[in-house]
Amino acid sequence: MLLLLVLLMWTAPLLVEVEGDGPVRTTLQRGTQGSNPNEAEGLQFLQRYDDAASFLCNLFMEASWLYNTNVTEHNKRNMISRQLQWSQFHRSSYEEGRQFRWRSFAHAAVRRMFGFITVLGRAALPDNQLREYAELLQQMKALYSTARVCPPAPDLKEGRRKHLKEVWVYDDYDLQSEGNRTCLPTLSLEPDLTRLLQESRDPRVLRYVWRSWRRASGAPLRTRYQRFITLANNAAKLNGFSDAGEYWRSEYEVGDLEEDLEELWRELKPLYLQLHAFVRRKLRLHYGANIVPETGPIPAHLLGNMWAQDWSGVLPLTLPFPGQTPHDVTEEMIRQGYSPVRIFRTADNFYRSLGLEAVPVSFWRDSMFSKPRDREVVCHASAWDMCNNRDYRVKMCTDVTMEDLIKAHHEMGHIQYDMLYRNQPFIFRDGANPGFHEAVGDVVALSAATPQHLKALGLMSARRNADITQETQTDLNHLFTVAMAKIAFLPFALVLDKWRWRVFSGEIPQSTMNKEWWKLRMEYSGVSPPVVRDEDDFDPGAKYHVPANTPYVRYLVSFILQFQLHETLCEASGHVGPLHTCSIYGSSAAGELLRRGLSLGRSEPWPTVMAQLTNGRYKRLNAGPILKYFQPLHDWLQQQNNDTFVGWRSSEALIAGQQYSSSATTAAYVLMALLFLTMLLGMACLLTRRWRKSVKEEDSAEQR
Ligand SMILES: [Zn+2]
Repeated sequence: MLLLLVLLMWTAPLLVEVEGDGPVRTTLQRGTQGSNPNEAEGLQFLQRYDDAASFLCNLFMEASWLYNTNVTEHNKRNMISRQLQWSQFHRSSYEEGRQFRWRSFAHAAVRRMFGFITVLGRAALPDNQLREYAELLQQMKALYSTARVCPPAPDLKEGRRKHLKEVWVYDDYDLQSEGNRTCLPTLSLEPDLTRLLQESRDPRVLRYVWRSWRRASGAPLRTRYQRFITLANNAAKLNGFSDAGEYWRSEYEVGDLEEDLEELWRELKPLYLQLHAFVRRKLRLHYGANIVPETGPIPAHLLGNMWAQDWSGVLPLTLPFPGQTPHDVTEEMIRQGYSPVRIFRTADNFYRSLGLEAVPVSFWRDSMFSKPRDREVVCHASAWDMCNNRDYRVKMCTDVTMEDLIKAHHEMGHIQYDMLYRNQPFIFRDGANPGFHEAVGDVVALSAATPQHLKALGLMSARRNADITQETQTDLNHLFTVAMAKIAFLPFALVLDKWRWRVFSGEIPQSTMNKEWWKLRMEYSGVSPPVVRDEDDFDPGAKYHVPANTPYVRYLVSFILQFQLHETLCEASGHVGPLHTCSIYGSSAAGELLRRGLSLGRSEPWPTVMAQLTNGRYKRLNAGPILKYFQPLHDWLQQQNNDTFVGWRSSEALIAGQQYSSSATTAAYVLMALLFLTMLLGMACLLTRRWRKSVKEEDSAEQR
């Protein structure tokens, strides 16, 4: 208890006073309470909770680590039993915690802890529903992760292409690949389909991959998801929320998250529109006018990514100055003999240069930096807090590439955050809101990926470009590269959760879930499906976070937030010049801001943490800094798009099935017109004959 009380008092004076912008808007209405008014007993309960939670969480994390780095049945069983133990602990703590009338306790931090402990989530469901919920979730995830697709038909490689080009709209390619031959579905999302979408420039292959993945992954889980919605809503209601969407949004402790995000999107949309128009024009140049419309949405299969959420895959087709120094330093890393461990040492070094703590020795001993050859592992990169205030690990199948160098900086951001809040009570050891954890590593990655920093690392030639034009061009290429990942992503992230919020609330009926999905995708992102979709399809389900039921808006929050932090940290580091050229490497002033803000964990509402991190400048999400960062690119794009239509008309989407049906309709019209003409001609002939006859007769009459 002493520890807790000391902590509660210690955190208070750390907070800066915030001016302007009105009061911090938070509504922590989470949690349920009972009748016990005794705060001292409440504190004893919290202390017991803290000890037990750290201990059991550590057991679960160890078991989970073992499974994820060595996938065996035995390890899986062990992990599941630890998970069960962990869930049971949650449930009993919830039962005990909600006996207290904690909302009237004196200490704000105590009330806050109870607020977290007395929300049970899905475990509030009755046993039979809880079991069904868990089974459905497991089945959906399994369906998704085991989905496989047949390779594109090999006989279509050469020879038939010309023919195919003519009949492209008739979907021959798909039929050839799926219908008329038996095939072995061997391609998985990672790495096969992902790579195909990034590398293939054959629209038929791309469309085939796009469509087949949705057939294999999304469509089969639609009915399960429909049942899942009911159960998720039941769980939310038992926790005092109107539906699962409201439950998710409550994590942000703001009045109207959806409206806040809409407002941000309105500010960001002009930049997105410029990027969209520029990319569409480049793709149209490459693929031709019959595949990419001039003023319609961009067909989603051509953007280099399964969900068109990150357009980096089409950088080779779209880069503003393709002739300039390549921004990718992969070759140089290989030449200099970088290894996975060295990549992480480089990332750790960045954080230490800010005056932050080095990771413990155990991190280097226990982490998994590359894919082992002797066993199955779960490769998905992740950062681990082992819950004992000592052990932190990463697990990543690292390749020696620039992409993984940046990813390592991101993962190390999670680790730094974990280490910085380790002295908080267990329940507060988490990101200030779900977006914060993702933002920290990204902030550092923004610096780490600048040509300026890569030059400092000796990975890019330190020689300044001969003329200023070249320098500007390299800069614009860099900015464009960041935009293709971060700006392209924004509407996708918004739509994924907007759609789910509406599905949970019933605003989108289950009978039109897919139609409404595309309506939103079209409206916000300006992308269209390459083939006709209907309600047998379930395209949202072809994205992992839907079957896994993971909220997504956190990434959108993180993307906006990280630029707010970047701006403040750059200013603290004394950077002058455009924001996108800033690297905070070596700035202890920036490090100090991070340390103060991040060590709060989630002990305070996130607007307070944000105020702390930004020296009081911001206490809510603000699109200003991200717009400022991309301003030079925005200006440049506007010039480039001078003669280009900006925006899209949904009615001008080029959708294969529709094209097919519309060409079928056209054919029917032509046929009818021909028939009509023939009839007309026939009648005309008849009339002419009669007329001629009569003329003749008249003639003859005349002659007579
Ligand atoms: Zn992350």
